[in-house]
Amino acid sequence: LQAQLVAQEKMRALGQLVAGIAHELRNPLTAIKTFVELLPKKLDDERFRAELLRYVPEEMERMNRILEDLLDYSRAKPLQMQNVDLRELVGSVLGLFARRLEREQVEVVVDVPGELVIRADRARVKQVLINLVMNALEAMASSPRKHLTIRADSRAGGVELAVGDTGEGMDTEELSRLFQPFYTTKAQGIGLGLYLSDRLMQEHGGRIEASSAKGKGTTFTLWFERQEKEESHAQLAHRG
Ligand code: ADP
Ligand code: MG
Repeated sequence: LQAQLVAQEKMRALGQLVAGIAHELRNPLTAIKTFVELLPKKLDDERFRAELLRYVPEEMERMNRILEDLLDYSRAKPLQMQNVDLRELVGSVLGLFARRLEREQVEVVVDVPGELVIRADRARVKQVLINLVMNALEAMASSPRKHLTIRADSRAGGVELAVGDTGEGMDTEELSRLFQPFYTTKAQGIGLGLYLSDRLMQEHGGRIEASSAKGKGTTFTLWFERQEKEESHAQLAHRG
């Protein structure tokens, strides 16, 4: 019964995703089609040509980005589980943003104990963290006070990793739509980042949750099953 419910839930999520993809691809496609249809008649219209050269590549790029995001996700290599040191992982993600953090004068607090190791696909968890940090920075773009806080903690049987910002925050209505595919409030947004992050965490047997206060900030929390460091080579080899 449990398996049936999970399968139903998956089909529902898939249906929602497919409907979203169809919708998101149709808009730019319609724009491109209109330009192409008008082209023979308007070939000599200079303003038309300028608009075509501006909008068609833009719309094509948008379609391309949607497809890239989805392919990244569905290139569905099985998870490559390994021992991942959270402090090292957080450091490497912040390294990617170092210049931007400095330019935007973001104050960063990292509180991740050195001995925290999780069993996970490092590349994919890194992708989730990148999504969260990117969203945090975007949410703080016009905040006078920009604090990015990354904390990790071991909790009953698991490890929690939280990414907090002092950005624009969300109300309960916004919070409830956060993980839907193609939900975005950004002009240049695609709305796949959190949808895919949620799916990736579920694949790991973990979860992602958000709490937020409008005008104050947002915290995303990732939860992983605990993996002791000693679990590494020696013991696994011993077990055969
Ligand atoms: P995108 O970043 O392309 O909009 P995401 O799936 O990453 O797509 O995020 C979906 C939406 O959730 C964002 O458009 C924004 O409205 C909201 N959101 C995500 N992270 C935050 C955050 N840290 N603070 C406030 N709002 C957020
Ligand atoms: Mg995003």
